[in-house]
Amino acid sequence: MSMVNYKSTCSYCGVGCGINVLKDKKGKISIQGDPEHPVNKGMLCSKGMNLHYVVEDKSDRLLHPQMRWGKSHPLEQVDWNTALDRASAVFKSIIKTHGPDSVAFYVSGQCLTEEYYLVNKLTKGFLKTNNVDTNSRLCMSSAVMAYIKTLGEDSVPIAYEDIEQADCFLVAGANPAWCHPIIWRRIEKQKEKHPDVKIIVVDPRITQSCSIADIHLQVHPGTDEVLFHALGRCLIEQGDIDLDFIAKHTDGFNAYKELVLKTTLEDAAQICGVSINDIQMAASFIGNARGFLTLWTMGLNQSADGVNKNLALIDLNLITGHIGKPGSGPFSLTGQPNAMGGREVGGMATLLASHRILSNPAHRNEVAKFWEVENISEKPGKTATQIFEGAEDGSIKAIWIICTNPLVSMPDARKIEAALKKARFVVVQDISDKNEAIPYADLVLPAAGWGEKEGTMTNSERRISHLSQFTSAPGEALPDAEILMRFAKKMGFHGFDFTNMAEVYAEYCAMTKGTNIDISGLDYDHLKKRGTIQWPFPNKTQGETRRLFTNKKFPTPNGRAQIQVSGPKNAFEKPSPEFPLVLTTGRIRDQWHTMTRTGKVNKLNKHLPKPFLEIHPENASERGISQGSTVLVSGNRGEVRLHAQITDKIKKGVVFLPMHWGKILQNDFARANNLTGNAIDPVSKQPDFKYSAVQVSLFKKS
Ligand code: SF4
Repeated sequence: MSMVNYKSTCSYCGVGCGINVLKDKKGKISIQGDPEHPVNKGMLCSKGMNLHYVVEDKSDRLLHPQMRWGKSHPLEQVDWNTALDRASAVFKSIIKTHGPDSVAFYVSGQCLTEEYYLVNKLTKGFLKTNNVDTNSRLCMSSAVMAYIKTLGEDSVPIAYEDIEQADCFLVAGANPAWCHPIIWRRIEKQKEKHPDVKIIVVDPRITQSCSIADIHLQVHPGTDEVLFHALGRCLIEQGDIDLDFIAKHTDGFNAYKELVLKTTLEDAAQICGVSINDIQMAASFIGNARGFLTLWTMGLNQSADGVNKNLALIDLNLITGHIGKPGSGPFSLTGQPNAMGGREVGGMATLLASHRILSNPAHRNEVAKFWEVENISEKPGKTATQIFEGAEDGSIKAIWIICTNPLVSMPDARKIEAALKKARFVVVQDISDKNEAIPYADLVLPAAGWGEKEGTMTNSERRISHLSQFTSAPGEALPDAEILMRFAKKMGFHGFDFTNMAEVYAEYCAMTKGTNIDISGLDYDHLKKRGTIQWPFPNKTQGETRRLFTNKKFPTPNGRAQIQVSGPKNAFEKPSPEFPLVLTTGRIRDQWHTMTRTGKVNKLNKHLPKPFLEIHPENASERGISQGSTVLVSGNRGEVRLHAQITDKIKKGVVFLPMHWGKILQNDFARANNLTGNAIDPVSKQPDFKYSAVQVSLFKKS
């Protein structure tokens, strides 16, 4: 039977694997890894290869707009006009009475670049508030700030092909074997091909990624920065730093050296809970490397000290000169498929499009001029947690949630519930009726999902891909971009008369002209023809840019990278006699975020079908807990009940809980974010999901 082939990109993680979607005459689709795609070369992980089940199973889909006429009324089906008339009337009224900063949009790293661009244009340009933030704030905002502080701009400098040219990998606070599997497969292949390649893993847990590690530094949670400084100390003492690069292309080395020499290796080893020998051996691997890649993600980013941890890691690349050359560089792994695209279009409360910064008056003027609006407000927008705090304290009256499930994914779920109850007007725009914010919504808008709309995304290596539409959305569901444009028109705003996504993208591309992320040479036709392109791409003649900073010039005021001495240590929630254990949360191999999609796929549910708590055998035995016992995990903000998984793969004193399960998808109450707190990094405003004080007790014998 003849098949039609559509090109797309996997909509789960930030690796950005290319997918061929094959559709037969009866409309049945199947998925294959694109063998010609430079990211995955035909490979897909378990999540990606099962994407077609998610598209085919429409059982949970929101099909029609629904509205509540009052807080105590049930949701009723309405038409799009009625729904958006109500939304615009309420927004106009609230803004008139309470000012533009009384409304907020909370969006998602799942959104396509065009959607991200439009929601930012709508809020920052026309609603006159910068209250638009994203769940990417929970994922990589600490990395964004660290790149800006060290390299001058939020630019991931590497290309994935550096994996095949590196001979030393430092993987910190990440389990790519489960969470970025295709990147990991490429690292595994590099190690298989070149057994001398060294892999250093830094993690409080023995994860799947440790299986090929030469050294696993099983640190105490929260001590990564001390470890990175200890590695810096060893490199300096061994003479394994690049003095020429440091002298010609960086500032700040002397202050860094003074700082790292202050802590002895003995002290560092004790603080981190690892041996001096292992620190020294890891440093010697780095010191002998011709290509040195540092990879990290949530373990460093999701911390009250996230920016400091990032800085200390990037410093290792800078003092060794391992940046801007083959096989080398800092390589932050993005969690969401389009977290990077969101960063590019200014999809956070503190950013503007094309890596412009909200606090810079010249940047605000450029953006205002481009959008033909009077001005962009200089007042910083509220970030993710601040938006919900605002809803709880009454300063945010209306909150519009797009493509994210905050009652499962945000820290301290109790506060999010209180915020949504208090907000005067809540809009939930999603594909799935499993979004747990729906019971609090005054308006529910059905959105089109992956494959049901066209657009672009950017992966972790700055690679832009075009995603084709290959099927239609069910019921009356509309692409998020279409919903935003219709709402903008109801509000009476100009500048939203796009007839297709190519026009939206063209406007954004034009906006990048002359910036460091210039893609003004790009358009949909060229992108489709080329398949994918790494930015910058200022013109078609010059072509794409694989690796940044090959000329050792950095976009800082003096062109030099800034080796950073980290700021003051930020407070973690301290364990206490009442709550003596440290809870860290994370992901499992076959589930994605809050499981609204992967939870529908039987094959994926088989891997680890139920939520569990990993606990060390000694901590379990002290509490009379045996394998599979039902345990109560309690903390300062709430509790969860689930089964114990006793394992010596976790450090004594630490327990681990997957973040995926919420109320709707689990009868037992196992939402990890009942326990996480409100600590955020003061610079990046990223919440801490890796350090909460808890107690574990036996609930009942299994
Ligand atoms: Fe999708 Fe990430 Fe798996 Fe690739 S590695 S198939 S992008 S989930």
